Amino acid sequence: MNYEPVLLARINKPRSQQLEGYRQDGGYETFARVLREMKPEEVVARVKESGLRGRGGAGFPTGIKWAFLPKNHPGPVYLAVNADESEPCTYNNRILMEKDPHQVLEGVLISSYAIQARVAFFYIRYEYGDAYRILHESIDELYQSGLLGQNILNSGYSLDIVLHRGAGAYICGEETGLIESLEGKRAWPRIKPPFPAVEGAFRKPTIVNNVETLACVTQIMRRGVEWFRSLGVPPDPKNPRDLGSYGPKLYTLAGHVNEPKCVELPMGVTVRELVERYGGGVWKGRKAKAVNPGGISMGFLRCDLPLKNGEGTEYDIPLDFNGPGRAGCLGLGTGAVTVIDDQTSMIDVVHNVCQFFSHESCGQCTPCREGTGWMLKIMERLRRGRGRREDLDILLDVAERIGIIPGTTICGLADGAGWPVKTAIRKFRDEFEAAIREGKVSRYVRPLEVVA
Ligand code: NAD
Ligand code: SF4
Repeated sequence: MNYEPVLLARINKPRSQQLEGYRQDGGYETFARVLREMKPEEVVARVKESGLRGRGGAGFPTGIKWAFLPKNHPGPVYLAVNADESEPCTYNNRILMEKDPHQVLEGVLISSYAIQARVAFFYIRYEYGDAYRILHESIDELYQSGLLGQNILNSGYSLDIVLHRGAGAYICGEETGLIESLEGKRAWPRIKPPFPAVEGAFRKPTIVNNVETLACVTQIMRRGVEWFRSLGVPPDPKNPRDLGSYGPKLYTLAGHVNEPKCVELPMGVTVRELVERYGGGVWKGRKAKAVNPGGISMGFLRCDLPLKNGEGTEYDIPLDFNGPGRAGCLGLGTGAVTVIDDQTSMIDVVHNVCQFFSHESCGQCTPCREGTGWMLKIMERLRRGRGRREDLDILLDVAERIGIIPGTTICGLADGAGWPVKTAIRKFRDEFEAAIREGKVSRYVRPLEVVA
């Protein structure tokens, strides 16, 4: 596939972060034109037409989300940028913030104008220290050049950006957890509805958008709706509810791959092409056994499992909003593709996943708090060679019952904890059963742990 990157076009330029260089490349001309020539509702309409769907994981249509803001609200309304990128192996937002922060900030300016926000909160995860410092400098540059603050470019429109650094918890990326944290409280997700677009930060309507989504807004307003819709995958004509997967996507490659990196491609590239062509193949000459198509919470593809429609195996799944779902995964998620080679035990992988979710559960909902802990305890038993025959069914049962989809929890963290467990056991049951039968001890278990 011959594709010239757009979102990542500037990342290898010297001093790509600086305002001067960004402006030499035409930066902020789009924002100035939008301020001069377009009404806010025209910007919303343009983004709606483009079919842009949120890049943070859920794929909700951005223009439709903006249009959910209450009409004639006395204000204020807010934009909150979700830069709490914490899904394991996901780092596309970090690359954008560190290497081309002004492309993201131009998207913040255009989007804030579209929804008529006078304050945009930029919530960045604590661990992204470099990105935080770079954004700090970039926002200062904007104030100094009159692109932020009062009466921007004499348009009558004013905007402030508040850069807020998180304190390091996965749940702060859940949009209502983020809002609670922004308000200075513990990041306990809120029950939805009301959705933040109706009642968000400080109880005011708030649009929460991901960093990559906002960079896409910059490019849609610069290059046009036609350009965006010329890339990616149109809706399936047999499915009237399908919204299509338009535009470019940043995929991050991680795990047992020769060249872990962030790659920009039109939506719909297959896992095989991404790993073999762009990631240099599986490391050490091994084969791909399993792949997470978009962060661990999406579950696993089994690379040698034939697809029902006869179109190859799950390794040939296209990475658009529909593809991973056709292979039993939760969705495209963040587009973080993690490769697991054929010499790795799925028990070790799932144990690691369970450790993560049990640790990150905020503890508000009993099914999530106890369920993630229960799954971890069982996986702990399995990796010590002490698994029981009934363990796999208990794991499946717990994984099925926790989450927002079965309706037992407040947020989607528990679904994300259940999906990798369910898909791993369903697709690799032989491996789990053999390990239980043979009392196989993981090579990562220290000798003292076996007897403990
Ligand atoms: P969601 O489907 O509940 O919501 C998606 C967005 O649409 C939200 O902003 C929500 O407010 C909005 N929305 C949905 N219905 C609405 C309505 N009727 N009215 C107004 N707004 C509405 O999903 P979510 O729980 O926000 O996100 C889950 C996703 O987050 C997962 O799929 C996962 O991939 C992703 N995730 C990403 C990261 C990361 O690091 N980027 C980390 C963890 C999880
Ligand atoms: Fe917290 Fe889990 Fe409930 Fe989400 S599902 S609110 S993380 S306990």
